[in-house]
Amino acid sequence: MNRRTLAVLLLLAVLVASCGTGSPPDRAQPGDAASRGTPCEGTGDDFPGDVKLARCLTEWFWSQRFQENGGTYRPITRFVAYQGANGPDCGGQAAVPENAFYCPYGHFIAYDAAWLKAMYDQMGDGAVYVVIPHELGHAVQAQLVEDFRFNVERELQADCYAGAALSGLIRVGVLNTEQGDEEELLANLQAAGDPTDIWLAPDAHGTPQQRQQYFAHGYTEGMGTC
Ligand SMILES: [Zn+2]
Repeated sequence: MNRRTLAVLLLLAVLVASCGTGSPPDRAQPGDAASRGTPCEGTGDDFPGDVKLARCLTEWFWSQRFQENGGTYRPITRFVAYQGANGPDCGGQAAVPENAFYCPYGHFIAYDAAWLKAMYDQMGDGAVYVVIPHELGHAVQAQLVEDFRFNVERELQADCYAGAALSGLIRVGVLNTEQGDEEELLANLQAAGDPTDIWLAPDAHGTPQQRQQYFAHGYTEGMGTC
């Protein structure tokens, strides 16, 4: 078995028919993404490898989707790991610790590496495969119609895109899922930067239930429903 195996994300009713055995978080299955026609190298057998692979595979997924629709996906320009408060600012706004964000000014993503690593250690590699595809979902939004009344709509659509990208990658065999735990996914979505549940708040991301629901929606139905 040498396909990349992604733990944690056995989130959905359709996939959790046999849930409850509580298998431990999976680590480090050698991957062969490159041999399956992706440009992505590495096996994702440690935190830096998973971060790199999550970014590469998700961008590969979106470049394919754009191409199918007669467009061209524009990759992010930078993928910045920062520590605590030393992150890059975005349009004059300082980066904050314990966060990951997409910045439309410069079209880049930055993440607090220690924060993401801590989630990875605590919750398994699914943390990386929720946070990075979510932020790349914002990079995709920036290239599509930008018409959201509320920030929460933007955030939930990014969750939906993240779910769609993950299921797409699983479908073509570059990622595998293993038995995981819905609560772990929920925890991941909560942890992925969720300052408030107030619908109208400018930084609202949606309730954990909403986030899980939108993620699952993209996962089962695909990007067209996002
Ligand atoms: Zn977001």
